[in-house]
Amino acid sequence: MRKKVPGVLALLMILALTMACGKKYEEITPEGSPGSHETVSSEDENPVLYIRQSEGENYEQAQSSSRETVVVGETALSMEDRDETVYVTGSDVNGRASATTSSQVMAVFQKGQKLHRTGYDDTWSKVDYNGTACYIASRYLSVTEPRTDAMETASGSGETAGDGSGIAFDSSWKYGEFSKINSGQAILYKAPGDNRKGITVCVNAGHGTKGGSNVKTLCHPDGTPKVTGGTTGAGATSAVAVSGGMTFSDGTPESKVTLAMAKKLKGKLLAAGYDVLMIREGDDVQLDNIARTVIANNKADCHIALHWDSTTNNKGAFYMSVPNVSSYRAMEPVKSNWEKHNALGECLVAGLREAEVKIFSSGSMEMDLTQTSYSTVPSIDIELGDKASDHSDAALDKLADGLLAGVNQYFGK
Ligand SMILES: [Zn+2]
Repeated sequence: MRKKVPGVLALLMILALTMACGKKYEEITPEGSPGSHETVSSEDENPVLYIRQSEGENYEQAQSSSRETVVVGETALSMEDRDETVYVTGSDVNGRASATTSSQVMAVFQKGQKLHRTGYDDTWSKVDYNGTACYIASRYLSVTEPRTDAMETASGSGETAGDGSGIAFDSSWKYGEFSKINSGQAILYKAPGDNRKGITVCVNAGHGTKGGSNVKTLCHPDGTPKVTGGTTGAGATSAVAVSGGMTFSDGTPESKVTLAMAKKLKGKLLAAGYDVLMIREGDDVQLDNIARTVIANNKADCHIALHWDSTTNNKGAFYMSVPNVSSYRAMEPVKSNWEKHNALGECLVAGLREAEVKIFSSGSMEMDLTQTSYSTVPSIDIELGDKASDHSDAALDKLADGLLAGVNQYFGK
């Protein structure tokens, strides 16, 4: 580790304090080291308490039609009080007499059904059912209304002919044990018509996991410290599971813009014949960065995480490239995949350039990210602009055109 003069340390700390987005950085040239760049990340700046995983927690795969997969040997004593409307996100979801899969099934709910939730924990939710309490796996409830066939048709957007199917996290998947938040589910959409390419693109709307910044996960599967980073980066082995994201200069949360962008990109990808795995389709999904990555590893052919940076000078778009650090590139699964990650990033930036999107610098920045550290499919974090960037519908449309062009280029279509 290089010793730094106090002034540089102070600057690093100020930068860390002023950056809100989970994967934000500034590039600094330390005094006296011309040409030597050091990247400062705030991904893991904030000291955060570990939250212990519930003991006895285990997962059980759903049986045929039963859309209930979580079994936890816990009572509902720790439930938080809720008073909110929720929607069922799966088909044939069981409503139980108590918070255990061994209890009586009181009702079976269908996708889109509206319920009143009175209690919540990561695993179970308590809802009203004809005046009595009933328990449903929290992963099958959302505060946002899921899209149904009728809504898809009504939208007339040509996004998809049918609705998507839920993809639950499977803790037995490789690296699955490193995830701490994984009760949510992704949604897989199949491209309509005869022009299906048989390629699935995972579209990951960055941020949007309540409680995600209170939990930490390992930066690398082998427990080694991050190779880029600033004040706490050197030696840091854990980072926030999912950060809250930044706020645009006009007050809009980044997570809202990444979601709007994801939906727009989804429509264009489906129309072009790609199947799309949507990590998040509402304000919240209980999937941390590792869970998102592991789902993409198992269910998609590439993984594109959408972000905007926390600078304020409208500097343009770029992708987070794999750091050129030999120890990092020698670590699996980075070793077997880093060239694909960078190739995908290059294609996406080329596509954005083609769509006349402003590009920052050379279009890339080296960054050691949790996503990259666990990815076994081509995987990229793309920063589509920053706090000062235009995020109007027209601007997002242009960005989506660019990303589609980049995906086409990557897959050679
Ligand atoms: Zn972000």
